[in-house]
Amino acid sequence: MSRQTFTMIKPDAMKNGHAGAIIDRFIQEGFRIVAMKMTKLSADKAGEFYAIHKERGFYGELVEFMSSGPIIAAILEKENAVSAFRDLIGATNPAQAAEGSIRKLYATSVGENAVHGSDSNENAKIECDFFFSSLERF
Ligand code: GDP
Repeated sequence: MSRQTFTMIKPDAMKNGHAGAIIDRFIQEGFRIVAMKMTKLSADKAGEFYAIHKERGFYGELVEFMSSGPIIAAILEKENAVSAFRDLIGATNPAQAAEGSIRKLYATSVGENAVHGSDSNENAKIECDFFFSSLERF
């Protein structure tokens, strides 16, 4: 599993027309697409996915944003996928994200920050299983 990570292209990037460029970047950076789907989270499902942040002040805003429109969910594969992908997306706040990172290029704010990337191998497995059955992985 350390070769796989989970990502979502968030509603802001979908709405702003960046999904194609972002998926192309995944491929250019050497990630293989193991699974991918376009879907829309209900508020309940978004709340469940981000349950770890329940006590944070921004939780309500985060759940509302993540259920506001369609997303693209994917499993990506590469050596050291979790850390390689976190490097590619950049810091949570686009103002602090490295030049050329996906969030620097496409995020609009700390909340509406274009993409999700798992922060550990353990969470990558939980998040992949949240969205994809074994029949949807290639
Ligand atoms: P990540 O691992 O870089 O995605 O960051 P976190 O795990 O800390 O936060 C999860 C998600 O919550 C972020 O990607 C943002 O979409 C959102 N978020 C984090 N901090 C804030 C904040 O201060 N305000 C708002 N509105 N959303 C936030």
